[in-house]
Amino acid sequence: MAAENPLTVYVDLDNTIAVYNKVISRVCSDKKIDYPPSLVTKQEISDYFKTNQMNDTWTKIQGYCYGEYMEYAEPAAESVKLLEKLREMGYQFHLVSHKTQRPASCLDVDLRQHADKWLSNNFPNVFLTRLFFDTKKEKIQYIQDTKPDFMIDDLPEILTECGLGRKKSILIHSSSDEIHKDYTNCENWSETFNYISTVENISSIDR
Ligand SMILES: [Mg+2]
Repeated sequence: MAAENPLTVYVDLDNTIAVYNKVISRVCSDKKIDYPPSLVTKQEISDYFKTNQMNDTWTKIQGYCYGEYMEYAEPAAESVKLLEKLREMGYQFHLVSHKTQRPASCLDVDLRQHADKWLSNNFPNVFLTRLFFDTKKEKIQYIQDTKPDFMIDDLPEILTECGLGRKKSILIHSSSDEIHKDYTNCENWSETFNYISTVENISSIDR
């Protein structure tokens, strides 16, 4: 790879490199919010509150998770090691996140400040820039305008709307075997590393 023409990779934050499953249980235990102990993943817990007309409670939990409890979020398995390795190989990483400054629950907390601190603690050497957008629409517009070589996100609708195409768009934490026209499914960071560092995939992307 020519150093003067590095590959640029955009990476989402929440649920892409930051994993919150354990943070949610910690928040609920500290704040004495009950939910069935059989529920483990963020999706299961969020479904429980939403189907029981407890949207406000879920909104409040999210405010804590992305705010003062963010420090307990875990980097996705192997993400730190593999992103650092790719960076050493010459890839340039930019963090591109849809994250408002304040949570919807109006807690007096700066979500971006907590995210910045978490990134400095967990990914100190990886990202050249960290960009936070108020809306998904603004994030998508930025990606469409600047056209990275790869975009990694956990939300299929973001990748579809960005329209970069299947080769450049990676849906992470997806165990689907389906060949989707808008993105490539990768189950974890190890699969993502293999995908974006494979010469055939790089040489076939349209820059
Ligand atoms: Mg996300």
